[in-house]
Amino acid sequence: MCETCRRNSSPPFEFSRRRLLVGAASTAGLLLAGAARAKETKPPAKPQNILSPDASLERLLKGNTRYVEGVSLRHDFKHEREALAGGQNPYAAILSCADSRIAPEYAFDSARGDLFVCRVAGNFATAETIASLEYAVAVLAVPLILVLGHDSCGAVDAAIKSLKDNTTLPGHMPSLVDGIAPAVKAVSQQGGDTLAKAIRQNVLDNVAKLNAATPILSAAVEQHKLKVVGGIYGLKDGRVDMVI
Ligand SMILES: [Zn+2]
Repeated sequence: MCETCRRNSSPPFEFSRRRLLVGAASTAGLLLAGAARAKETKPPAKPQNILSPDASLERLLKGNTRYVEGVSLRHDFKHEREALAGGQNPYAAILSCADSRIAPEYAFDSARGDLFVCRVAGNFATAETIASLEYAVAVLAVPLILVLGHDSCGAVDAAIKSLKDNTTLPGHMPSLVDGIAPAVKAVSQQGGDTLAKAIRQNVLDNVAKLNAATPILSAAVEQHKLKVVGGIYGLKDGRVDMVI
């Protein structure tokens, strides 16, 4: 966590860090309660971002429709920055591919302080991204996580080729193959468009992984404070189609 995030989120983060050190199963409940208490004592930076999971998804999809139709809202960057200097309460978290053509804030026509975005090539959940999303949910009270894949994903395509040809990619890139491999293996015998199927399966797998991520995310899902959903972004028209 950068110093700015730590400073801006000081009371709830310090609270959560102490609790995380405890490591007990009840930690998730304590964290969620702690975040709620923190919200009571400090007014949210964006009151309009306090939404139910369903309302959060609806807002995302309405923003995507504006983006697709080319009628995105204008943003006053200067005043947005000033309003958010004291804190953040994003209305959704996104686990997106790192592909430069995706840009979740544009794709959902959202402003600063609206989306908590974690990105990695192949949009799969690592320990670090799960930890980041735990922070978003337990401390910032984010009600929705969207796993966002996209068509023609180069990372998924590279994983398919690496596994098919039994080759090893250079540098640290084999770690991407490891993350995407379960989805590729699950669809490899199905025939048809393996890339499209693996992209979809990868989204489904990671939605399931986040739903089951104990103790924090799974507890929030159980308490109906969080929904985890998945979608695929179309590069040509920018439309996000929900898959789960
Ligand atoms: Zn990609």
